[in-house]
Amino acid sequence: MNDVIRQGIGMTSKRTRDRLIARLREQGVRDDAVLEVMAETPRHLFIDEALSHKAYEDTALPIGFNQTISQPYIVAKMTELLLAQGARDRVLEVGTGSGYQTAVLALLCQQVFSVERILPLQQRAAERLTLLQLDNVELYHTDGGMGLPMKGPFDAIMVTAAPETVPEELKQQLAIGGVMVIPVGGDEQRLMHIERRTQTGFDTKIVESVRFVPLLQGTVHQ
Ligand code: SAH
Repeated sequence: MNDVIRQGIGMTSKRTRDRLIARLREQGVRDDAVLEVMAETPRHLFIDEALSHKAYEDTALPIGFNQTISQPYIVAKMTELLLAQGARDRVLEVGTGSGYQTAVLALLCQQVFSVERILPLQQRAAERLTLLQLDNVELYHTDGGMGLPMKGPFDAIMVTAAPETVPEELKQQLAIGGVMVIPVGGDEQRLMHIERRTQTGFDTKIVESVRFVPLLQGTVHQ
């Protein structure tokens, strides 16, 4: 944690944040490092001021452009699953959105690459992450359905918008031993945990039912 984050979080009461962390624990999140980082990350800075009184409730909130900042439980759960095993040197996030999940990853990993297809969201996320002095993050305005081939392979890939099926390009950008956590499906979505065991061997597990915005193609400029 750096001083800027400490100041940012200082604006909300410890009791409010502790209540959220207690709720995440109740729901089965066990990783203390993840819980600690979520207790420290000022989520209120990642949403519009009009909604910031809800920032430490365990709920998804609108961030404009028909998109949402993910529910804290799902951020915690996905981060825990993503980082439970193996290296965390190079991590790719698809769907920067508000940048909140990006910040959580940046505080737990060496280098985070995050891609977003909607330019104004990407720009706002960039401002917030710069403000928090999280300088181990690279943000890109691009369609992440194909991953970020020039920066791969990645030890971990987190996807925060749901494709109908797992994009092959993303699987191919996992390092051997790397893990991807991705929601998959349309009306019925499942969170999947995919581990690349060998060059051609992938181990896929279904974690639980989830509800994410769809992974869409192309980019939006305004
Ligand atoms: N992790 C974010 C979640 C935002 S919602 C947060 O907690 O704030 C998912 C985001 O994925 C949206 O911002 C949406 O624009 C983005 N997205 C959807 N399809 C995409 C694609 N193909 N490439 C990159 N970003 C995409």
